[in-house]
Amino acid sequence: MEYTDTRDGSVRTDLKTAVLSGMNPATGGLYIPVTIPHLNADLLNKSYGPSFRDVAFEIAKLYCGDDIPESDLQEIIADCYPFNAPVVPIDPVTYVLELFHGPTCAFKDFGARFMARLMAYFNRGENKPLHILVATSGDTGSAVGSAFSGVEGIDVTILYPKGKISCLQEKQLSTFTGNVRALAVEGSFDDCQRLVKTAFTDTALRKKFRLSSANSINISRLLPQSFYYVYAALSVKCRSLHDNKIENPSIIVIVPSGNFGNLTSGLIAQKMGAPITGFVAATNANKTVPDWLVSGRYEPRPSIPTLSNAMDVGAPSNHERITALYTHDELKKILASYWTDDNGTIKGITSCHERTGYIIDPHGAVGWQAWYDIRKGAMLKLMSGFPNNAENPGLTPNIPVWAQSILDNKAVGIVLETAHPAKFADTVKQAIGREPPMPDRLEKILNLPDRSIAMQNDYETFSKWLQKNLSA
Ligand SMILES: *Cc1c(COP(=O)(O)O)cnc(C)c1O
Repeated sequence: MEYTDTRDGSVRTDLKTAVLSGMNPATGGLYIPVTIPHLNADLLNKSYGPSFRDVAFEIAKLYCGDDIPESDLQEIIADCYPFNAPVVPIDPVTYVLELFHGPTCAFKDFGARFMARLMAYFNRGENKPLHILVATSGDTGSAVGSAFSGVEGIDVTILYPKGKISCLQEKQLSTFTGNVRALAVEGSFDDCQRLVKTAFTDTALRKKFRLSSANSINISRLLPQSFYYVYAALSVKCRSLHDNKIENPSIIVIVPSGNFGNLTSGLIAQKMGAPITGFVAATNANKTVPDWLVSGRYEPRPSIPTLSNAMDVGAPSNHERITALYTHDELKKILASYWTDDNGTIKGITSCHERTGYIIDPHGAVGWQAWYDIRKGAMLKLMSGFPNNAENPGLTPNIPVWAQSILDNKAVGIVLETAHPAKFADTVKQAIGREPPMPDRLEKILNLPDRSIAMQNDYETFSKWLQKNLSA
């Protein structure tokens, strides 16, 4: 499989280069496959849903088959995914795809673990360690730290803004051991990012160490996220008649979105042939993409803090990949988009719990609220010629090709639940009056000793620390 980039379609590179370099340094563009391969008909036409790991392997083979022999790839997949992605029915037309069963309880584990193993694979035979520097404002750091933990030949330093992330998030970051460590920086997330960026341009440092980033734009984080879309769509296709008395439903996937990596992976899954009829991009008040769908003008902006903070992105970098895959007009046909504010998010947690008994986190709640509103009148209003004013929370005025299937009760929704609700216990308690149960793997972390290293917000101090503490 060859890869090209979003800014220069004549670029051709292999998987190893795309994975190890993250983005194309010559153009600043993001890597994408030159062609999207089609899934094997045997996989698509099974009368029962295949297992998550079988789906993952079949897809990984399409993208990595030229570069990684099958037996190695089998091992990588097994090592990445000792957990599953359960598809849970919560009402007669709604499933929740639980993406929080990985070690850090958020969907980013799916991408980060695959990236870590591919990087380690392509890094074999190097005699110097590869040092990953990553700045984080929350979920990314813990997923990346956990993914690389114990991975040979790779060493990870995470920078986070001290006291500016949730206690649980700080605990997750500050309890790594071995080849992963966290620096608690006296400053903001932007300060952390500045320290990391300066390190990458520091020639003295680069001379001594092999440095790399574990950026969210890395193609090896994006591709594995398509595994669970294909898996969920096949499983719903096979069980919908039994669960919902709907044969061959329109399958609509509702994606709580921030940087739009998750949705991009879904679009790729659909192009590969997954039986997905359409998508809903659901955002919080950071509605750059909904606004773009309405107006056709893409206007990135500073982010606004909200209750679904992992989606607080005003300039989503994967917009560039989405427009490399689809034109604006094509996209408006498959993608509905919806945004809500913090009130809507709380309302979403409450309404999901009251109507189904399911406790959803603030990110999933944005998705649930979108789906609930769409089937309870928003789509009907839109089709009757009364679109929502895009300034107000709600559905944007484009009518996707699958809109009629909602009115005909022929659609089922899969809401992606991107984090475990216990990670956002305060918000959940505010909505339903009690805290969600804490999974064992989070509870365990609470009792581990804090190993984070205090770091001033000063490049000289930071680079001296790296020089002294990293092994060359
Ligand atoms: C990162 C994250 C998102 C947003 O995903 P994107 O791929 O950036 O759109 C949503 N929910 C949670 C819990 C996340 O950690």
